[in-house]
Amino acid sequence: MGKINIPYGKQTISEQDIQAVVDVLRSDWLTQGPSVERFERAVADYCGVNCAVAVNSATSALHIACLAAGLGGGDILWTSPISFVASANCARYCGADVDFVDIDPDTCTMSVEELEKKLVEAEKTGRLPKVVVPVHFAGQSCDMERIAALGEHYGFTVIEDAAHAIGGRYRGQLIGNCRYSAMTVFSFHPVKLITTGEGGMVVSRSEELCSRLVRLRSHGITRDPAEFTFQSHGPWYYEQIELGFNYRMTDIQAALGCSQLLRLDANVARRHELVARYRQAFADLPIRFLSQDSDCYSAYHLFVVMLDCDLIATQREELAAKLRADGIASNVHYIPIHLQPYYRQYGFRPGDFPKAEEYYRHALTLPLYPAMTDAQQQHVIDVFRRVIG
Ligand SMILES: *Cc1c(COP(=O)(O)O)cnc(C)c1O
Repeated sequence: MGKINIPYGKQTISEQDIQAVVDVLRSDWLTQGPSVERFERAVADYCGVNCAVAVNSATSALHIACLAAGLGGGDILWTSPISFVASANCARYCGADVDFVDIDPDTCTMSVEELEKKLVEAEKTGRLPKVVVPVHFAGQSCDMERIAALGEHYGFTVIEDAAHAIGGRYRGQLIGNCRYSAMTVFSFHPVKLITTGEGGMVVSRSEELCSRLVRLRSHGITRDPAEFTFQSHGPWYYEQIELGFNYRMTDIQAALGCSQLLRLDANVARRHELVARYRQAFADLPIRFLSQDSDCYSAYHLFVVMLDCDLIATQREELAAKLRADGIASNVHYIPIHLQPYYRQYGFRPGDFPKAEEYYRHALTLPLYPAMTDAQQQHVIDVFRRVIG
């Protein structure tokens, strides 16, 4: 088996990034401190929102966002079956139930038609969702204006899972500006668009939600006298007024995040160049690409191709093995969440979300990351054309 030298995704670390981290290591402050504040301010300003709350992963960010939205036992959260499991697990952490809305087969984001149909049914049975989590799959925004309108009508809170999408735009506005949602969540895992090693963030226009998120991030503790139940005992005094967690980001991570953010736009632009070149080079092959909505500027976290299995001789598994033999990694995003053993125990079965399942049978993710050179991409193009031909 050949050595993989072209992964499907990869972080880029500059000398400046390294220096920023070293500077923190030489300082007095390692845990959440001035760099975390700076990173939060930088991301909030970038997105054009009031506030941002940094945490140790997007998974934690989704968890506390759900809690801040009031999600609890007896409630229901809906998300897309084509996502990472974290988009659904956040409901389970809160004791809430999960259900899914099938995808639009062209964009692979949550289908608004399916959402509307399901809401009409749910209203009849009294099982409306409290929270809906649209996932900006592969970096392209969902149709947020229509989802927000349904949220208004049916009374659910919208939390955008933008783990794939910082740097992307919807109707000219950066994803994360929260015009059509209560909160938006980002991931800074190394394979995502910018990294802090591990890390996540919730952004919002609501100061009220943010102060709740800040509390939940750190044990449910407040130092704000306005929130105290008892008289302060002195300057050391704090109160734990609810059950929170230790989901804090370190200053080491935040310094890396600040430095990475400076290159986000350039990296997304490079991703666009690479995707344009792939699409041109594969235009004659029996494959489909995710369709791009004219309202959207994708952050292009992933480059997904959908194989037409009737037209090509090689099955997907063989195809991946052949790519691997030439040093090229591929991947599949994602196994439909409802088919995971954990979710089957809640009654989900094959056939429940046919568009998602159909997509899963055909999808393959090819390498895409900003540091990929033209020569590396040419190698992927040549090998892919050869193995598919
Ligand atoms: C990666 C990812 C997450 C979780 O991010 P972490 O920072 O690894 O916790 C959540 N949702 C989606 C869609 C993701 O791709």
